[in-house]
Amino acid sequence: MKKNLYYTNSGLDRVSHLRKDDPWILERIDHPTSQFIPVWREKNLIVGSPRETRDVKAAYLSSNQAMPLMKGNSNWIYLGEDEQETAWFAIDVSFLTKDEAAELVSGAHFDDLWTIGTLLPPEDGSRLAFAKGMAYWNKTHMYCGRCGAETKSSHAGHVRRCSRDECGKESFPRTDPAVIMLITAEVDGEEAILLGRQAVWPRGMYSVLAGFVEPGESLEEAVAREVFEEAGVRVEPKDVVYCGSQPWPFPASIMVGLRAPATDITLNVNKEEMDDARWFKRSEIEARKELKLYLPRPVSIARALIDDWLKD
Ligand SMILES: [Zn+2]
Repeated sequence: MKKNLYYTNSGLDRVSHLRKDDPWILERIDHPTSQFIPVWREKNLIVGSPRETRDVKAAYLSSNQAMPLMKGNSNWIYLGEDEQETAWFAIDVSFLTKDEAAELVSGAHFDDLWTIGTLLPPEDGSRLAFAKGMAYWNKTHMYCGRCGAETKSSHAGHVRRCSRDECGKESFPRTDPAVIMLITAEVDGEEAILLGRQAVWPRGMYSVLAGFVEPGESLEEAVAREVFEEAGVRVEPKDVVYCGSQPWPFPASIMVGLRAPATDITLNVNKEEMDDARWFKRSEIEARKELKLYLPRPVSIARALIDDWLKD
C-alpha cells in the first residue's frame, strides 16, 4: 500500500517471549511510568468531544489508578513496550457501572473507536484497537470451546487455559481474516473498478467488495467466491495479488487487501447481499463530487485500495 494504514504501527514492541515471565510482568505492572488503556464494554476512553472539537485524544490510566481495578489475572493484558521503554497494558473495566466508568478520568468519556477513530492520532488509534481487540477476545473466551469449563488467563492475557486439568485446552487470540478486493476491468475502452453498496449505507456511498474467508479456502479462492456470489463477476484465483492488510477490531477481524482483474465483467448482483454493484470508470471516480458518489473514509483499507489505483 502507498501509505501506512490506520490501526497499524502501534509503536509497541510486543516482547512476546516475556509474556509468561510472571515476575517481570509484575514488575512492569508496578512500574510508575506504566500506562493502562481502559476498555469498557468494547468502548475506549477519550478526552475531548468528537462532536464539538477535533482535538480528541486517548486517555490512559497510571499504574496507581489501574491497580484497584485489576481483578487477579483475569481482566488485564500486557501489550508491549514503547520506544521510551514504557510498558503498555489493556484493562477491561466493563464491571463498572456507566456512572463509575464516566468518573474514571475527569473530562474523559468512553466512546466507540469506530466513531472517533479518524480523529485520534494514528498511534493512539492503533494502541486502542490492540487493547479493544485483546479485551474482546478474552471476554469471548471465558469458557472452554471443547468442554465448556471456565478458562483462566495466562501469558499476561495472551493465552486462556481450560481450568479442568483433564482437558487443559489452551486458546490463543483469534482474528478473523476477511478479504477486501479491488476488481479491475476495461469497460467501454476505459479502466474501471467494481464497487458495491449495502442498503444500510448512506445514499451514494459505494465501496470495494469484501467478505470472510471460509475454512479450507485460500485468500485467492475467497476473493473469487465472494465476487461471484455478490456481483456475478468472474475472477481467477491465480490472478489475485496481495496489496496490504489492516487490523479491523470491529469486533475481531483483519482485512486482507487484494487486487485482481475480472475475466468476465457481466454483472449479476445478488440482491440478498447487496443493494447494488456496478462498474465505475476512472473518469467517474475522478468526477465523484459532481456525481454525488461517496467513497469509504480515508482511514480504511477499502479507500487505500481505491486511492492506490487512482494514482497508478
Ligand atoms: Zn476444557
